[in-house]
Amino acid sequence: MSWFTRKERGIQTPTEMKREAPDGLWYQCPSCKHVMHTREHKLNAYTCVKCNYHEKIGSEAYFSVLFDEAEYTELDADMISGDPLEFEDTKKYPDRIRDTVKKTGLKDAVRTAYGKMDDIDIVVSCMDFNFIGGSMGSVVGEKIARGIDHALQNRKPFLMISRSGGARMMEAGYSLMQMAKTSAKLALLSEAKLPYISLLTDPTTGGVTASYAMLGDFNIAEPGALIGFAGPRVIRETIGKDLPKGFQSAEFVLEHGFLDFIVDRKDLKDKLASLLRMLQ
Ligand SMILES: [Zn+2]
Repeated sequence: MSWFTRKERGIQTPTEMKREAPDGLWYQCPSCKHVMHTREHKLNAYTCVKCNYHEKIGSEAYFSVLFDEAEYTELDADMISGDPLEFEDTKKYPDRIRDTVKKTGLKDAVRTAYGKMDDIDIVVSCMDFNFIGGSMGSVVGEKIARGIDHALQNRKPFLMISRSGGARMMEAGYSLMQMAKTSAKLALLSEAKLPYISLLTDPTTGGVTASYAMLGDFNIAEPGALIGFAGPRVIRETIGKDLPKGFQSAEFVLEHGFLDFIVDRKDLKDKLASLLRMLQ
């Protein structure tokens, strides 16, 4: 049976002869490894058609999922971070900002926009994890505060989509002050009887969980999202006990009373719209 044994070893194919699908045409689910067309994935609100894994997406994708005809007006699009502490770790902070802006095309870790969602006027602030781990610094706090101001002035509901590792260490105390600032603004929104909905996505941790992410009239989350304050290792070492299974998953947090409901991203727009209609 020599006809199927390879006569030559190490067959080489020049790069220009190789046939490959163009980049970005296919998406492979990191959870179940199922391969689907990127268009199909996008139409499915960036969730896996097979196992429903919710891909971690940024503000651009959320805005296109939520706003009617993906039309919206962005607020404070050019606000960019200063360097109040002249901070330097492996890089100078302004250099890190400049490199991240270049790499991501974003100016900071949150974007705010207003527009119509199922015909309801709404202001949405959405975090971008790609920008220094979605960390909350002065720009994040200020943009959220101004987003709330816009909601107050125009009597619109406010939606916050969180995805964050917590406070931005390069701004230390300034970063922590954003927790108080955003919380105070949300209190004004509450006094004006305007609805605030907080959507927690994978992951929402640290100072963000400890401030605006948990202050919603409704706190809702995406399936399987990691939600917590400190990481599991730190907690395990502090309390000296093993942690329960599924600890810090959205489902666990819901069961323990910290969330109102978990929403599939495909139903997000419908659910938010009917919730807001109920509150009007
Ligand atoms: Zn999958």
